[in-house]
Amino acid sequence: MMKWGLIFQLQPHTPFLVLPNPKAVPHFRTIINTASSPRFSSSSSSSSSSSPPSSSSVHPTFTSSFRCAVLGAGFAGLSVAWHLLSQSPKELKLHVDIFDDVGIGGGASGVAGGLVHPYSPKVKLLWRGEECWTEFLNLLSVAEDAFNGLSHCQHNTNGLIVRRTGILRPAVNKKFFYVMNENALSYLAGCPIQTIDEIAARKLIPNLCTPLNTAYYMPEAVNVNPLNYLKALFQASENIVKRMSSIGYCGKKITLHKKLVTSICEVGDEYDAVIVCLGARVDMVAELSGVLPLRTCRGIVAHLQLHDSFSEEYCEYSPSILSDVWLAVQGPRSLYIGSTWEWGSRNFSSSVSYEEASSTLQQLLPKTSMIYPQISNWTVTGAQAGVRAMPPLTSQGSFPLLGCIDDLVKGGKSSYPSKYWLIGGLGARGLLYHGWLGKLTAQAVLSSSEALLPLELTSWKK
Ligand SMILES: Cc1cc2nc3c(=O)[nH]c(=O)nc-3n(C[C@H](O)[C@H](O)[C@H](O)COP(=O)(O)OP(=O)(O)OC[C@H]3O[C@@H](n4cnc5c(N)ncnc54)[C@H](O)[C@@H]3O)c2cc1C
Repeated sequence: MMKWGLIFQLQPHTPFLVLPNPKAVPHFRTIINTASSPRFSSSSSSSSSSSPPSSSSVHPTFTSSFRCAVLGAGFAGLSVAWHLLSQSPKELKLHVDIFDDVGIGGGASGVAGGLVHPYSPKVKLLWRGEECWTEFLNLLSVAEDAFNGLSHCQHNTNGLIVRRTGILRPAVNKKFFYVMNENALSYLAGCPIQTIDEIAARKLIPNLCTPLNTAYYMPEAVNVNPLNYLKALFQASENIVKRMSSIGYCGKKITLHKKLVTSICEVGDEYDAVIVCLGARVDMVAELSGVLPLRTCRGIVAHLQLHDSFSEEYCEYSPSILSDVWLAVQGPRSLYIGSTWEWGSRNFSSSVSYEEASSTLQQLLPKTSMIYPQISNWTVTGAQAGVRAMPPLTSQGSFPLLGCIDDLVKGGKSSYPSKYWLIGGLGARGLLYHGWLGKLTAQAVLSSSEALLPLELTSWKK
């Protein structure tokens, strides 16, 4: 068992600038886009209600009953499972079986930093950023409703599901400074960007350093606790089943099986559809080994707690920080920093050796300290790793991989139209993407129509 509790003293302790009323919402001095209005309208506020969407059309073959296997219980798998249950007609007898050898959040999803917003590192709105943001907020709201109903002791969930204090990105690179300022003007109404100077930034995060006297503040961006969120999302699916049953529709069912899948065909002929959501380990399944255009990238995150001898906590209202490293705040005395990028790694273990953790911290802490010197007061209590499945970079951008994979699952008996499906390559943005991708895939699977998916997401097959 490795020992933690290291205190990395990088800089002498500088006292916090304590604000008179830490709960007061600070007044921001906006230096660039004071009066700018959003360039993109957003339906996020209206659609972030947790009510399930109206039902999708169902292929004639499946009008009375449908059995679906979802492989993987990460963001992708649990999103598609929820959307299948919530979008299918009430009368449809629908059984969803989820298979995961580790359990909920066993892959990258369980160790993600949990930072969610719809922008690139240069604060440019991402491709389909509006749909992604809207669907993410919808699922978050669904999960929050379910989380509030959870018995936390029984389900072993501690703390929060989401911290809604925004995310702040200090500008650190002169090369991209002007382009970032320009990009920041074209924000989504549902997730605005305020360009602020160091004084305003320090009102948000006392002692923050902004090397170029500029930071981009996204007040609506959120920081999710990934494991609590995933457990709640699964609970939300179970709630649909219960709710349907209580009004007389007893045909819906969802079950989680703790089982390793080595071959997709092995899963069973009893399923009408099999949806592969195995993250970076998808390559280890017989039929898909060496077939998908994905690269792996392992990342390590470290957990830190504020040392007992320091009383100045991370302020309740202070946003999380994104820079060359990120700082995902869990509470006044608990945060994660990340992450490393080890391309091509085949190490899927979430455990991190003491030596590996030490070298990781040597990379992460100096960078963190440049932005947030107070990190020297925090004690490292642990580290864990996850592997991202990175999609290829095309001339149009980098898109996740979706679609029907009947052609790839040779030997799979496909007596049904479009039986095998993939959601993969969520890269470093699984939280942003998973709501929208799960919804699209559920619709495509139920209606057995790949044509419902945007071409950008299926073009990897050509
Ligand atoms: C260090 C790190 C930090 C990150 N931070 C963020 C962040 O802040 N924000 C963000 O949006 N994204 C972040 N990401 C990216 C995000 O975590 C991924 O995009 C996302 O988790 C991918 O989800 P997934 O469901 O496709 O795969 P996974 O989460 O990997 O889920 C796959 C599931 O399948 C299971 N599985 C795999 N193979 C098998 C098998 N053969 N049999 C049975 N079960 C199997 C696994 O146990 C796992 O539960 C981060 C990633 C890493 C590594």
